[in-house]
Amino acid sequence: MHRATKIVATIGPASSTQDILLQMIQAGCDVVRLNFSHGTADDHRQRAEFVREVARKAGREVAIMADLQGPKIRVGKFENGKTTLIAGNSFILDSACELGNDDRVGLDYKDLPRDLKPGDVLLLNDGLIVLNVTRVLGTEIHTTVKIGGDLSNNKGINRQGGGLTAPALTEKDMEDIKTAMSLGADFVAVSFPKNATDMEMARQLANIAGAPYGIKPKMIAKIERAEAIPALQGILDASDGIMVARGDLAVEVGNAAVPALQKRMIRMARESNKFVITATQMMESMIHAPVPTRAEVSDVANAVLDGTDAVMLSAESAAGKYPVQTIETMAAICVEAEKSEKSELDRDFLDRTFTRIDQSIAMGALFTAFHLGAKAIVALTESGSTALWMSRHWTHVPIFALTPRTGSERAMALYRNVTSLHLDTNTDRDTALAQALEVVVSKGYASHGDMVVLTVGEPMGQAGGTNTLKIVRVGEPY
Ligand code: PGA
Ligand code: MN
Repeated sequence: MHRATKIVATIGPASSTQDILLQMIQAGCDVVRLNFSHGTADDHRQRAEFVREVARKAGREVAIMADLQGPKIRVGKFENGKTTLIAGNSFILDSACELGNDDRVGLDYKDLPRDLKPGDVLLLNDGLIVLNVTRVLGTEIHTTVKIGGDLSNNKGINRQGGGLTAPALTEKDMEDIKTAMSLGADFVAVSFPKNATDMEMARQLANIAGAPYGIKPKMIAKIERAEAIPALQGILDASDGIMVARGDLAVEVGNAAVPALQKRMIRMARESNKFVITATQMMESMIHAPVPTRAEVSDVANAVLDGTDAVMLSAESAAGKYPVQTIETMAAICVEAEKSEKSELDRDFLDRTFTRIDQSIAMGALFTAFHLGAKAIVALTESGSTALWMSRHWTHVPIFALTPRTGSERAMALYRNVTSLHLDTNTDRDTALAQALEVVVSKGYASHGDMVVLTVGEPMGQAGGTNTLKIVRVGEPY
């Protein structure tokens, strides 16, 4: 079954053996996410090696995403590992406190008291616990518990409405970027960026760290801070793609605001020719159960209908009981949802102008393939841009992107409706075209007499060089 929507799966303790990884990749995992909030550099390096090895066995490229921890603000540790907060009682967050108890707990971000004032609302542990700030005295933040519950070591803190000043890249992130480049990560996800500058800085660091390995990773901005919403267009322009990071975002802007924001972010990303991942709690109940809830099925399907490039698994695949089944189930939901999606290509094209030749060819190929009823689009591409542009519009015509560059092949693993494949030659046009057609036919997407739309750059081998659109019938000379 052809699936257009891609699956990103976080790996962790539940998915670190080669055997499980192979099953996950065979079940449809397109991109593996290494979560740098957990584990050591060696854990990540080991996992990345396994992914590469297993992908080779499975016969396809799987991309690796390094997700940086970012300035997640957390409470410190407790004498007894936790405390129980009761509504109406007072509780103190104290940046000078070493070990917490029932009255107070420490903070990893020492400047937090400076950012707060009475009346602020703090959400702990993904919003399960709510504290009202009553006063700030030196290192101490005095609060009244609004919603209580168990609070254990190192749980996250957000301020409702955002506005905490912690810088976007911590020292740990800078070290982790180096580790990520040394293990060959294709994507770097930046947590809690506030604006375009945060992304530009992260890209610069990643490019410097990647240079010795010949890597320029694709940069992903995780949109999970209230301030990032008004800055979204700038962040998009400075990034290759974004993640709708619903976990932290929901805590900052309120749960109820997230679905509409998701739709807006997906639309803006596609209009800006960027890719977008929808993340967090998509199949949450499958951490423990072999089947998802009806609501989760709807959530995944709706993200597909919103036009997301990829849906993401976090704890489901990193620490859950059913990592492989979760991917299988998610894949089936995507395929089914895609069937009901209507193309709005003609509407997308209203009042559009292009400034680039390669982009015009890409749009021409898409328009032609759609209205001609071609069975497939085949793009011979260096950078992958042709495939990215075409995949910003939905047509039901599968796009095959063939490239001699492994980096481009892996990056395209994330693009919706793009099957990226390795091309052996980038010098001889006729051999390359013949090879491309053979792939499409052997995969069963087209047979004798079917029309296929091809794009290629002449001369070959230059990024941004696509300048030719060609329509062929399979089995006939061209
Ligand atoms: P996280 O990011 O899992 O790294 O927190 C995703 C989110 O916040 O939704
Ligand atoms: Mn987050």
